[in-house]
Amino acid sequence: MTRVGVDPASIEVLFLTHFHGDHTLGLPPFVLHRIFVDKPRTLTIVGPEGVQDRLEKLFEVSWGIDWKPVMQPRFKARYVNARPRGQAAGYRYETVKLDHGSAGSNGYRIHVDGKVLAYSGDTEPTAPLERLVDGADVAIVEATGPGDVFSHMSWEAAEALKKRHPKTRFVFNHLYSGTVAGAAKDLQVVEI
Ligand SMILES: [Zn+2]
Ligand SMILES: [Zn+2]
Repeated sequence: MTRVGVDPASIEVLFLTHFHGDHTLGLPPFVLHRIFVDKPRTLTIVGPEGVQDRLEKLFEVSWGIDWKPVMQPRFKARYVNARPRGQAAGYRYETVKLDHGSAGSNGYRIHVDGKVLAYSGDTEPTAPLERLVDGADVAIVEATGPGDVFSHMSWEAAEALKKRHPKTRFVFNHLYSGTVAGAAKDLQVVEI
């Protein structure tokens, strides 16, 4: 965050799409920073049903018996089970249930300064994804790899999605392997 000029203390709300490890295991270091370095405002965490229980378990695994007495009281967090539409830390959002794995994944349409940001997390390229990105100004969508990518979206499907929504600015992430001409690099700031 520091390298790309984002102050961790300035983060007001965090939207979690699902609980797979590649989407949650970056959280413990962030929480540690919020507790001991930033001492910031309350962090709102929006996620699928049971988000508080799932994250509390993750934090207990991360810090063992120190979590509850030492750290949890210093971590100012408010957990919210994502609703079909709602407001979190002053930001309006809609949730779209996407097809991914057994538990599915929450896509979010987040309203920021009159614009709509669509964020997919992981998903197959099915009908709910079309609804998620429809009319969005910016869509951050996964595109895992070329060819057959189980439970995810292929580069070919990503390209077709982009063509079907020409007015939306797409940013693709979650690339497992391979390189794409003109793609942004890790930690590169993309002006949108
Ligand atoms: Zn996943
Ligand atoms: Zn993933």
